[in-house]
Amino acid sequence: NKLDKYIITVFGASGDLSKKKTFPAIFGLFKQGEISKDECRVVGYARSKMTDEELRDRLKPFLLKQVSKESNGEQVVDDFLANVTYVQGPYDTDEGYKKLGESYKEIEKSLNNGSPVNRLHYLALPPSVFGTVCEQIKNNIYINEDDAKTKIIVEKPFGHDLESSRQLQKELAPLFSEDELYRIDHYLGKEMVKNLLILRFGNILFNSAWNKENIQNIQITFKEPFGTEGRGGYFNDIGIIRDVMQNHLLQVLTLLTMERPVAFDSEAVRDEKVKVLKAIAPIDHNDIIIGQYGASEDGSKPSYLDDETVPEGSKCITFAAMNFQIRNERWDGVPIIMKAGKALDVGKVEIRIQFKPVASGMFDQIPNNELVIRIQPDEAVYLKCNMKTPGLSTSTKITDLNLTYADRYEDFWIPQAYEALIRDALIGDHSNFVRDDELDVSWALFTPLLDYLEGKDAPAPTIYPYGSRGPTELNEYMHKHNYKYMHGDVYQWPIIRPD
Ligand code: NAP
Ligand code: NAP
Repeated sequence: NKLDKYIITVFGASGDLSKKKTFPAIFGLFKQGEISKDECRVVGYARSKMTDEELRDRLKPFLLKQVSKESNGEQVVDDFLANVTYVQGPYDTDEGYKKLGESYKEIEKSLNNGSPVNRLHYLALPPSVFGTVCEQIKNNIYINEDDAKTKIIVEKPFGHDLESSRQLQKELAPLFSEDELYRIDHYLGKEMVKNLLILRFGNILFNSAWNKENIQNIQITFKEPFGTEGRGGYFNDIGIIRDVMQNHLLQVLTLLTMERPVAFDSEAVRDEKVKVLKAIAPIDHNDIIIGQYGASEDGSKPSYLDDETVPEGSKCITFAAMNFQIRNERWDGVPIIMKAGKALDVGKVEIRIQFKPVASGMFDQIPNNELVIRIQPDEAVYLKCNMKTPGLSTSTKITDLNLTYADRYEDFWIPQAYEALIRDALIGDHSNFVRDDELDVSWALFTPLLDYLEGKDAPAPTIYPYGSRGPTELNEYMHKHNYKYMHGDVYQWPIIRPD
C-alpha cells in the first residue's frame, strides 16, 4: 500500500486550513518517509493568482516550524516543496479543471511513465462550494481504473443541522460512492482517540468494568483557555455545540461506549458506532447548562460580547454541558456528561470515568476509582486508586497508576491528527472517517436541541467569568449526575511528600 502512487490536490490552497494543517500534514508524512517524490506529488488549486514559487513561499514558514530542531530541516522542507505546484482557476467552470488535468498528465509522465495514478482531492474550502467543486471534479478529472482511483477528503462542517447535512449528502451521493468519500473529523486521528478501542477491548480489567454495574459517571470534557480573540464573527454562527460537541466529542463518546466490533475493519467499527448512537435518548432540554463568557474577574480579559466581530447582544453559547443517556443494557442509567467551553481555566480534552464505590465496612470512607484518559495536551492515561500511605501508617491515599506518553515512549513519532488521517485515506482505510449514516444520526440527535436553543423561546446563557471553570451551577449539575468530587486536598500530583 505504501507504494501506491498519488497526486494529492489541495483545493482552496490559498486558505487558512491549507497552510496551517493540510500542507503541514502532507509534509509531515514526507518527512517521516511515508511518502516520497517517487510516489507522490502535490498540487494546490484556488482562484487566487499565484505562481508555484509564491505558493511555496507562502507555505514554507509553516513547514519550517516542524523542523526547527533538525539541522537539515530547511533542506527537507525545500525537497518537499519541490514536489508542490500550483494551478489557478475558478471553482464553478471547467476551465481550471482542464488545466488541472493537463498538469496531472505532466506529473504522471515523470511519476508513472505516463500511466494514471491515484488522485486524492482534499477540499480545504468553505462548504458552500463543496457541491460545485465535487461536480466539476466528477466531470473533468475523475478517474476509476484498476490502479488509479479517485478519493475525496471533505472537511467539517458537514452541514449546519440535519436538513442541511442531508442536502449536502444529496449533492455528493450521486457523484461519488461512500467508498470514495472521506469525511474528516480530526479528533479521530488523535493518538489517544485511536487508542480507545484497544484500551477498552484489549484489557480484560477495563473491559469487564466498562458498564453500569461499575461506572457511576462519565465526563467528556473540552476546555479552551482562550476566547474568540477577534474571530467571534465566525464563531457566532456556530457556537460551541456545533464547533466541538456534535462532531469531535460525540465521536469520542461513541468510541467510548460502543459494543465490541467483530473486527478492526472500518465497516465493523462504524456499524457499532451507529448502533450506539441510535441507542442515545433525545437530549433533555431541561437537563443542560449553557453559558457565555464574561470579562475575567480581574477585568484583564474581555467578555465574548466585547469581541468587536460579535453582533451586539448575541446569545451565542460558548459553554455547554449536557447529559447523554444510552438506553441499552450496558449503559442504562449512567450519566454521560459532555461539557465544553471557551475562555476557561485551563486547556485540556479528557475523558474521566468515575467508578462506583467499593463496599463499606472495613473502610470508613474511601474515594472512588477514576480512570482519566487525557487526549490533549500531553497524552496520558491514569487510574486513580487507593493505596496504603507508605511507611508505618495504615491509612489510605489516592495515588495513580500512570502512563504519561512522553515519559514512557521515547523517540516515538506520534503523528498529528491530520497526518494520521491523510495517511489513512492514502491507504484506503475508512475506519477513522465519518460514515454517511453516522453523520445523519449525530445531526438527528443534536438538531432538536439546537432548534430549541436558537428558537424564540431560547433561554439566555449564564455569564461566567473568563478564566473560570464555567457557570457556577456546574458543580451542582455534576453532583446531581452522580459525580463525586473528592480530590482537592486529598490528591497530589506529581510528587507526594510526608505530611
Ligand atoms: P478559508 O481560508 O476561508 O477558505 C479557503 C479558500 O477557499 C480561500 O483561500 C479561498 O481561495 C476560497 N474561498 C473562500 N471563500 C470562498 C467563497 N465564498 N467561495 C469560493 N471560494 C472561497 O477557509 P479555511 O479556514 O481554510 O477552511 C476550509 C474548510 O475547512 C472550511 O470548511 C472550514 O470550515 C474547515 N475547517 C477549517 C479549519 C481551520 O483551522 N481553518 C479547521 C477545521 C475545519 P481562493 O479565493 O483563492 O479561491
Ligand atoms: P482535576 O483537575 O483536579 O479535576 C478533577 C475533576 O474534578 C474534574 O472533573 C474537574 O472538573 C472537577 N473539579 C475540579 N475542581 C472542582 C471543584 N472545586 N469542585 C467540583 N469539581 C471540581 O484532576 P485530577 O485528575 O485530580 O488531576 C489533578 C492534576 O494532576 C491535574 O492537573 C492533572 O493533569 C495532573 N495529573 C497529571 C497526570 C499525568 O500527566 N500523567 C497524572 C495524574 C494527574 P473540570 O474538568 O470541569 O474542571
